[in-house]
Amino acid sequence: GISASLKSGQLREGQEASRVGEAAAAAAAKNKENKVVVCARCHSLRHYGVVKRPEAEPLLPDFDFIAAAGPRLASPSGARSLVLLLADASDFDGSFPRAVARLVAAAGEAHHADWKRGAPANLPRALLVVTKLDLLPTPSLSPDDVHAWAHSRARAGAGADLRLAGVHLVSAARGWGVRDLLDHVRQLSGPRGNVWAVGARNVGKSTLLNAIARCSGIEGGPTLTEAPVPGTTLDVIQVDGVLGSQAKLFDTPGLLHGHQLTSRLTLEEQKLVRVSKEMRPRTFRIKIGQCVHIGGLVRLDIEELTVGSIYVTVWASPLVPLHMGKTENAAMMIKDHFGLQLQPPIRQDRVNELGKWVRKEFKASGNSWDANSTDIAIAGLGWFGIGLKGEAVLGLWTYDGVDVVARNSLV
Ligand code: GDP
Repeated sequence: GISASLKSGQLREGQEASRVGEAAAAAAAKNKENKVVVCARCHSLRHYGVVKRPEAEPLLPDFDFIAAAGPRLASPSGARSLVLLLADASDFDGSFPRAVARLVAAAGEAHHADWKRGAPANLPRALLVVTKLDLLPTPSLSPDDVHAWAHSRARAGAGADLRLAGVHLVSAARGWGVRDLLDHVRQLSGPRGNVWAVGARNVGKSTLLNAIARCSGIEGGPTLTEAPVPGTTLDVIQVDGVLGSQAKLFDTPGLLHGHQLTSRLTLEEQKLVRVSKEMRPRTFRIKIGQCVHIGGLVRLDIEELTVGSIYVTVWASPLVPLHMGKTENAAMMIKDHFGLQLQPPIRQDRVNELGKWVRKEFKASGNSWDANSTDIAIAGLGWFGIGLKGEAVLGLWTYDGVDVVARNSLV
């Protein structure tokens, strides 16, 4: 059934009609045997627990939260809705579920207008949950600063209309902040509320929901699927018992963010890029005409500089090699070293598969070398911290469609 459905799909992409007919007939014959046709990935997951072709991962359809839950968020008679917007501390801007956050902001605005007209409002609320806090260099950060920073980044992602009922900094791995989050969720959802947990694939949602379940004292469960393969939660799942009484907790499939670099990498490449331990900075002091490479994924050029040098700090997985060199050699680096010494990508022929190599320009100015003035964040990879006393024009190169943003410095 699987191969027939795949083949007919491929054939429809522009081969002779007669062969399409044959394939369709074969598929129909299969259907007569009452076999359920599933996609190769589901089949592979169900029977082997693995995805056979990890390269196929980026082609999977995204989970449409707005279609699945949007109408229920704003339901006038329905129970109060609370959305947990999860974002990964090590990739905040890349992982933040901005489309859902915008929906919540818009629903909030509409309800606010109703409320002003005297209609009873059932305002959907949102909590921002920053996961994997243990990945940040926490001893050198003040929780208040991270809190304010996360709040402002969420508003940058969703628009200023986003009203948050709170911001929680958590680490499910260490148990930090889980109890406070659970208490706040129970308080906001009330006895009959609906709580939706939303986040990009791999944001740490399953791990967090398990930690919440443990924290609420449920013996031995509920055990949710903690995925060896990102994105294995395939449908909205109701998690019982955690919130007590009649409040409902819904887990949703991980969102696929095409703008995160990780979404176009193979599982093997993702292993190199994903941060699993507390992040450590790697700092370069560089001059005009020089550049820093992060694997074969990103390059930052110092194009103009009003002072002698600039400090560039890379915050990314230690498994990804860095290279500092002259910008005039950059084309040679791509040709001779991407996919070899500069991995990921893990093979030279993967370079073109990752997309077109494009430049984005940033201006930076600062008055200190040791306090970074600006971060340039690359979705799904990490960020550059820029420290300088003066002004600079920077050229950031990466694959087309990967989100790159300048933001206030975190560290
Ligand atoms: P999901 O796809 O959002 O459900 O993410 P998972 O819960 O499966 O977690 C994705 C990856 O992040 C796994 O490798 C987890 O071990 C890791 N992870 C989850 N929570 C934390 C955390 O609090 N700290 C750290 N360091 N890693 C975490």
